[in-house]
Amino acid sequence: MKNDIKDINLWESGARKIQWVKQNMCILRELEERFAVEQPFKGLKVALSVHLEAKTAYLCKVLAAGGAEMYITGSNPLSTQDDVAAALVHDGLNVFAWYAATEEEYNRHIEEVIKVGPNIIIDDGGDLVNHIHNNHPELIPNVLGGCEETTTGIIRLIAMNNEKKLKFPMVLVNNAKCKYLFDNRYGTGQSVWDGINRTTNLIVAGKNVVVAGYGWCGKGVAMRAKGLGASVIITEIDPVKAIEAVMDGFKVMKMEDAAKIGDFFVTVTGCRDVITEKSFNNMKDGAICCNAGHFDIEVDVAGLKEIATETREARNNIQGYKLSNGNWIYVIAEGRLVNLAAGDGHPAEIMDMSFAIQALSAAYIVKNSGKFDSMIVDVPEEVDNQVAVAKLKDWDFEIDELTKVQTDYLNNA
Ligand code: NAD
Ligand code: SAH
Repeated sequence: MKNDIKDINLWESGARKIQWVKQNMCILRELEERFAVEQPFKGLKVALSVHLEAKTAYLCKVLAAGGAEMYITGSNPLSTQDDVAAALVHDGLNVFAWYAATEEEYNRHIEEVIKVGPNIIIDDGGDLVNHIHNNHPELIPNVLGGCEETTTGIIRLIAMNNEKKLKFPMVLVNNAKCKYLFDNRYGTGQSVWDGINRTTNLIVAGKNVVVAGYGWCGKGVAMRAKGLGASVIITEIDPVKAIEAVMDGFKVMKMEDAAKIGDFFVTVTGCRDVITEKSFNNMKDGAICCNAGHFDIEVDVAGLKEIATETREARNNIQGYKLSNGNWIYVIAEGRLVNLAAGDGHPAEIMDMSFAIQALSAAYIVKNSGKFDSMIVDVPEEVDNQVAVAKLKDWDFEIDELTKVQTDYLNNA
């Protein structure tokens, strides 16, 4: 099978979305031109599992321009956009994904892209890497290596590597400065509120917003909530992050206390069971919960279903749960990543930086194949710098250069 998508006839709308993001992804446009000449992926099969919306689609087209044979699936059943998938198939790329795939369909699509025997893996959360190691170890010798997009995926890779189970080199894209400082902070900061605002159509100003987790994503979500006029409360488990939140001007408290006063709750910890029964029972009538962390277990939606006396779809993508105390609690997008399952994810200019790092890291893996002495590979510093320089140039900002006297002064200090 070469494709498994919802409906090829949707391709025109998808093509328009891809064209729109392309206009705003300057680094990828440059790479597309360069790769078309250099052909770094000629003759190589690339399996990719990333949220399948327009920006990812453009990354796929850039890799294909560089000679890659692309096998594409999504990285979350609710973030695939069927028109975008259709546009890629219309352009001759191989796609196995559709919106609202069941668990069985989602896993079947992962199997489809793995069984082609990929040479490079581009993963977001480790689904492809896990699948090939667990179900197709015979295909591992084909793999030159791959790249991992997100924080939680990297935690999983490091755990595998510590147990000596990771059998090919993986570049830690998330740990590049031009990824986490912008994507996790400003990307999540903006797109989470975009998802919440367009789904709820409620005001944020004057409300109490509870952000669980003050890591790179949480900082962005809190900063933008403050900008929208909310009173922001942070919950944490790390004392240093908690002090940082206090000094950034936020209130810090335990979730069970925050539960009593919050209007909006956003979890972004990468952990589990952050909002559970105890908190739901303390919440005000009408409280709205959502998640922006990796898995749909940060807000315990399964537990909420069990204690609910009544449920209803309150609005598109918002499920209401009535508790025995008579209060209604609302959950956006089933507790899956709110910015992607209730929005289009991070803006194009942000994904331009993250995906430029992906594309350059994939080329780095090919160029240095067989030379890695560790299976865990950092993004080379020159790739980070190259992306920052390209972004500054596109946005028309100039910075100073060190004089020789300044360089000598700094080196001798
Ligand atoms: P991070 O490690 O920088 O931050 C996570 C924070 O959560 C830490 O400060 C940690 O102390 C805190 N934490 C852990 N368990 C907690 C708990 N039970 N209660 C309160 N706080 C807790 O990670 P990050 O880069 O901010 O990523 C967070 C999650 O978001 C990860 O799962 C990552 O994969 C995901 N992510 C999502 C998007 C998106 O588009 N939605 C983008 C990037 C990353
Ligand atoms: N498999 C996980 C995916 C983790 S999502 C899941 O269950 O949903 C976190 C990653 O999504 C981030 O590292 C970010 O780079 C990526 N992301 C955010 N917006 C995106 C977009 N518009 N397109 C593609 N990826 C996006």
